[in-house]
Amino acid sequence: MKERIVILGGGESGVGAAILAQQKGYDVFLSDGGSLAAERRRTLKSHKIDFEEGEHTEELILSASLVVKSPGIPDSAPLIQKIVAKGIAVISEIEFAYRFIDKAKVIAITGTNGKTTTSLLTYHLLKTAGYKVALGGNIGRSLAALVAEGGFHYYVVEVSSFQLDGIVNFRPDVAVLLNITPDHLDRYENNFNKYVTSKFKIIENLTNEQAFVYCADSEPVTEEVSRRKIEASMFAMSASNNEKLSAYLKDEHLIFNYQFMQDEKHYHIPLSEISLIGKHNMVNSMAAVLSALCVEVPIEKVLKGLKNFKNAPHRLEFVKEIDGAAYINDSKATNVDSVFYALDGVKGDIIWIAGGIDKGNDYSQIEKLVKKKVKALICMGKENEALVNYFNGKIDKIAEVDSAKMAVSQAHNWAKKGDVVLLSPACASFDLFSNYEDRGDKFKRAVSKLNKELKSKEA
Ligand code: ADP
Repeated sequence: MKERIVILGGGESGVGAAILAQQKGYDVFLSDGGSLAAERRRTLKSHKIDFEEGEHTEELILSASLVVKSPGIPDSAPLIQKIVAKGIAVISEIEFAYRFIDKAKVIAITGTNGKTTTSLLTYHLLKTAGYKVALGGNIGRSLAALVAEGGFHYYVVEVSSFQLDGIVNFRPDVAVLLNITPDHLDRYENNFNKYVTSKFKIIENLTNEQAFVYCADSEPVTEEVSRRKIEASMFAMSASNNEKLSAYLKDEHLIFNYQFMQDEKHYHIPLSEISLIGKHNMVNSMAAVLSALCVEVPIEKVLKGLKNFKNAPHRLEFVKEIDGAAYINDSKATNVDSVFYALDGVKGDIIWIAGGIDKGNDYSQIEKLVKKKVKALICMGKENEALVNYFNGKIDKIAEVDSAKMAVSQAHNWAKKGDVVLLSPACASFDLFSNYEDRGDKFKRAVSKLNKELKSKEA
């Protein structure tokens, strides 16, 4: 008789797990307490996978010998408790998918911030090097769907802490931990230590044949590293000069002292060879380079990918140069921390476009940097009081606008050659836009329109 597997949740990861399970010969049943998206319903039907939605029928679920749970369902849910009480194993989709990865190598990337950028860059480096690479997990397609497709040399997997909570044997060849700051604490009984423990599950099964790449600038990470006995081969990185580490930043270069499995190499990569900007992105770049080196990609191939990488939109995205001033879209920066990295990372005097819905921002964190680098502030929001009050008298010029078009036009009036016009709002976007993508898109459109108008005037 076929082994019965039940998949709880019919999102990207649930449907991926169901397809993989069916391919591997399980008796599959998928159950979703809510309603499925029409496309997922179609996929399940076309694969002839048995499913229900709008309810969880206990007798159909408790007859399973293995349950794959969506990362969205907490362990504390009564149904999960019943399943566990019956002695049925509950695992996450990445754990399930991992069990069917044969020869391919796995690079798993986690952290509170920077996961997507680092995953995209790592994927790009391996792809540019000529390998067949899959990218998925917490971004894009589920790992299970990718494993079902097969034929890859490498899997680059972005993993969230929820996905890590349900692992048992998951052992990536390279585990990357970028940073840990308080987030999602509601799922961890408001206990930061529990969240840290969850992130560290990424190295739980590692031996010295696997690599652990982590950022030494993140205190919660280094504290936990020093507290544990870690078997993995360790690679520490920093955005400052620290010669003891495997990768660090020094004199406009990324320095690598790479040593793994009897292989020892030293590289100095000038920042001009790296397409990303900003200190946080240097950590992300180091992580991606170390990951590629650990899975034996030659440095020459890595360099090519570093230079021509284009990040996902709205993250310190270069838009255009107009009259010698660069326009940069960092609409994803919805908190002060992200703005710090943006202001710190760009070169030149800054005309800073900020504002929107202020979630109680503490601007003192960036005051010094603003005074040093920002020559004008354009507040783009319905209520700009908090920003204006804080920076009044600290920045020479402040304007208030209520559209991306007005912001760009005001910025152009003030911009000189060599300046940077930076949209890095520190706030949510819902007062004037539908989301951060909409805000970034409208900014980019306004910049392009201005550029066209100026060009047509010249002609
Ligand atoms: P995630 O997928 O973890 O949300 P992203 O790559 O989408 O991460 O980046 C989201 C935001 O986090 C960026 O706009 C940037 O401001 C910030 N960020 C990116 N990388 C880092 C890092 N290594 N450390 C701190 N902040 C970062």
